[in-house]
Amino acid sequence: MEVRTIAVLGAGTMGRGIAYAAAVGRYRTILEDISEQQLVQALEYVRTSLDEGVARGKVSAEQKVKALAGFGTARSIEDACREAELVIEAVPEDMELKIEVFTLLDKFAKPGSIFASNTSSLSVTEMAAVTCRPEKCVGMHFFNPVPKMKLLEIVRALETSDDTLDTCREVGRRMGKQVVVVREAPGFITSRINALIGNEAFQMLQEGIASAEDIDTAIKLGLNHPMGPFEMVDLVGLDVRLSILEYLHKTLGEKFRPAPLMVQYVKAGRLGRKSGRGVYDYSGAQKSRG
Ligand code: NAD
Repeated sequence: MEVRTIAVLGAGTMGRGIAYAAAVGRYRTILEDISEQQLVQALEYVRTSLDEGVARGKVSAEQKVKALAGFGTARSIEDACREAELVIEAVPEDMELKIEVFTLLDKFAKPGSIFASNTSSLSVTEMAAVTCRPEKCVGMHFFNPVPKMKLLEIVRALETSDDTLDTCREVGRRMGKQVVVVREAPGFITSRINALIGNEAFQMLQEGIASAEDIDTAIKLGLNHPMGPFEMVDLVGLDVRLSILEYLHKTLGEKFRPAPLMVQYVKAGRLGRKSGRGVYDYSGAQKSRG
């Protein structure tokens, strides 16, 4: 099926970025959220990102005009999915909620349309099981911030068809993303490896092997990572990382057991940039050791 319209459900951090990428990819785009305030902020974000895209030479002036002309919003899943050949959900990471969304989509979306989840860790097979079209269900895992991050991990669930994969690959290409395909497994490629590196860094900090700054510097300059593991976890949120690790520990085993120091930081409310303090302290203007 040719995709002309993409509906994005959830206008938060990820949903608004995915909607931006869809609009820049010349798809008619409908962004939906239950919160009016989130939609207003998301629209502002899309406009600003388009301006930045033009300034960086990544988006043409004509592309920007077309993107805005083809952009719409909705306040219910029923309204959002009616016309779409592809629906990408980016509601919070909660299986009960995802299942509720997939159930509604199966009821109201047009026959043959594809349902994609932007989940970072949950089973798309489990979401697909509540629909009558598991072959049309797939994971499309984008990265934050979507306008700048090049990767799209396409997740093949148990019954995802080749047709569905091919369609999503093409959508990813038009959105300007480099696509990799992964069979459904906890954490896919990226979260699984990233969680392990981040956890090991906490183990080393706990063992007093080196300071947080020196571990970050070593990983950046020695291994050529753009960010150190502590800078990264402070951005992602220590609570978010901990819940990913707990899930990977449960599903993949002992090597993902969360480092006790990370658990302690989360208990202390040191969640990263969003709480003003994680591994580093952000309460002043400058990042400093927490
Ligand atoms: P977020 O909290 O920023 O946004 C979620 C949005 O969903 C909110 O605007 C909320 O109002 C809306 N929402 C809640 N219930 C809804 C419903 N029933 N219908 C429609 N909208 C609803 O969350 P996020 O960080 O954008 O994460 C969304 C998904 O993307 C999650 O599955 C997450 O695991 C995944 N993800 C997040 C990141 C990241 O870095 N934040 C990266 C990759 C994947």
